[in-house]
Amino acid sequence: MATHQANRAAIAAEVHEERLSPSQSVLESVLESAGRLQLNADVVGLLSTCWREVRAQLPVRMDDRKLHIFEGYRVQHNGARGPYKGGVRFHPRADLDEVRALAMLMTYKCALMDLPFGGAKGGVMCDPARMSNTELNRLTRTYTQHIGSILGVARDIPAPDMGTNAQTMAWMMDAYGQKYGYTPGIVTGKPVELGGSYGREQATGRGVATCMREYARSEGVSPSEIRVAIQGYGNVGSWTARIAGGMGFKVLAVSDVKGGIFNPDGLNITDLDRWFSVAGSVAGFSGATPITNDQLLELDCDYLVPAALGEVITAKNAANIRARVVVEAANHPVTPSGDRILGQRNVTVLPDILVNSGGVTVSYFEWTQNIQQFRWSLDRVNEELETRMVQRFNDLAARALKDGTRPRQAAFDIAVERVAKAILLRGFV
Ligand code: NAD
Repeated sequence: MATHQANRAAIAAEVHEERLSPSQSVLESVLESAGRLQLNADVVGLLSTCWREVRAQLPVRMDDRKLHIFEGYRVQHNGARGPYKGGVRFHPRADLDEVRALAMLMTYKCALMDLPFGGAKGGVMCDPARMSNTELNRLTRTYTQHIGSILGVARDIPAPDMGTNAQTMAWMMDAYGQKYGYTPGIVTGKPVELGGSYGREQATGRGVATCMREYARSEGVSPSEIRVAIQGYGNVGSWTARIAGGMGFKVLAVSDVKGGIFNPDGLNITDLDRWFSVAGSVAGFSGATPITNDQLLELDCDYLVPAALGEVITAKNAANIRARVVVEAANHPVTPSGDRILGQRNVTVLPDILVNSGGVTVSYFEWTQNIQQFRWSLDRVNEELETRMVQRFNDLAARALKDGTRPRQAAFDIAVERVAKAILLRGFV
């Protein structure tokens, strides 16, 4: 009977979820917070909509001389707290609504971390894995030309995200510089040789691992007793595996788009990296058993770290998640219905706007270094990141305890309150 009712609840949640686009899903958290904070309707209107959305046609001559027309976007959600900041995603599913959702998350992530930025995001609907370096270079330059007029060191500063990296940022900086003059602070996540910050590449994974360590400390459990599964072995997933592994966590399983691997005794990350550098995938690694991405998500482990795509834990699979903690390293990996089911099952969800904020935090350090034309040492970057991550983790835990809310609710309450205050102080309403 109880199972029957749980199934009916899951189906009802699923039907509700199917009606929500990614931006509507993010908006749910914002509107819930606005309700708890009793914000006025004008402020809620500004928090709920995007200030500017650019959609551009990007014609690119491919290596076979055929012209391919890509579609690209830059969405600026809210700039009340400072210049817009947010990554650029190259992915076949990067449509306008997804980019809008990610821009909103950036506003609240920057506010939660108390960084002087608003939120933006960019995207190009393309499959970088199927494109040559010269095609990606041409696409990046065309994209930068099309959105260049709304960028600026004090206006909007892009960074890498899924499918883009330091090389993409170097091309963006160069394309922008050709028109506007040498401007290293126009993007963050650049190569160190071009004014990038030490520690930026591993910063998001370092922040994820720091949150895992702090949560383990709050539970009174040693990392060596915690079994971890990580979906995604790109920038965020692989650095999380290395740094969390270095802290003593037992990383049992990882995956990428080609599949996953599992070893109940823990993976040897150094050997895995050696394999990855040759094979270009974790799949096929000899020190483990192959598993699918779906099996990884439902693995018997303590901490589950989705570090690839959004919306991978939904009403369809939330009841099957066996981890007791979900650490949201990816943006928006858990849908609202999935989140409700995890909540009913007492699974703790550490929210993306805290967990993966190490990247934008070190991007902020990079931006300030560019403005000052000064470079910090790696030790200084890592120390400042550590201090901020631990402080914000503690702020969130204290707010959740005070209000009796779940971590995501506490995170949005802190962030929405800060953005709302900036809107009022500026006199927007
Ligand atoms: P990436 O492109 O470096 O890596 C993405 C990984 O996901 C790869 O291992 C890829 O194989 C895997 N993947 C892609 N499609 C998949 C699928 N269908 N199933 C399973 N795995 C799949 O990207 P990244 O920079 O590591 O970003 C990962 C997530 O973290 C994204 O949600 C991104 O928005 C978020 N994020 C990234 C940063 C950053 O600094 N890079 C900062 C904050 C948040």
